[in-house]
Amino acid sequence: MTCFLCQRIADIQAGTNPYFVTELETGYVVLGDFQCWRGYTLFISKHCKPELHHLETATRSKFLQEMATVAEAVCNVFRPAKLNYEMLGNLVPHMHWHFFPRRLDEPDRLSPVWERYATAKDDPSYKPGVEEMNDMRTALRREIDRLLGR
Ligand SMILES: [Zn+2]
Repeated sequence: MTCFLCQRIADIQAGTNPYFVTELETGYVVLGDFQCWRGYTLFISKHCKPELHHLETATRSKFLQEMATVAEAVCNVFRPAKLNYEMLGNLVPHMHWHFFPRRLDEPDRLSPVWERYATAKDDPSYKPGVEEMNDMRTALRREIDRLLGR
């Protein structure tokens, strides 16, 4: 298997992805592997496709609707000043949304995250402990469930 996110999905299905939050109809919610932006979350499409228009219309609508629900839950749980949404796919074309909760006291709060991202992802100080990660996962899963009425 060559796609990085298809492998992540296989790990989720095998129960071995520690960042997994919950499964929705069109994708999987995971916390970011590092938490330079507390509450950094991703929504990974179940479809290994690069562009929204590659999805059938009803699936695309559902994917976008669920993406907005995940974003709302991230806002409700982590209370950012502003949420940043990104779906790039230059490195891994399998569609996935990044949600970055941004805060007013960040040193570079008006810039996109990507300059810091490259160094932050390998900084051990941004790796939450198991207990903190579990608390974040539980809070986010409960809020998504509440928003979906499930
Ligand atoms: Zn894939």
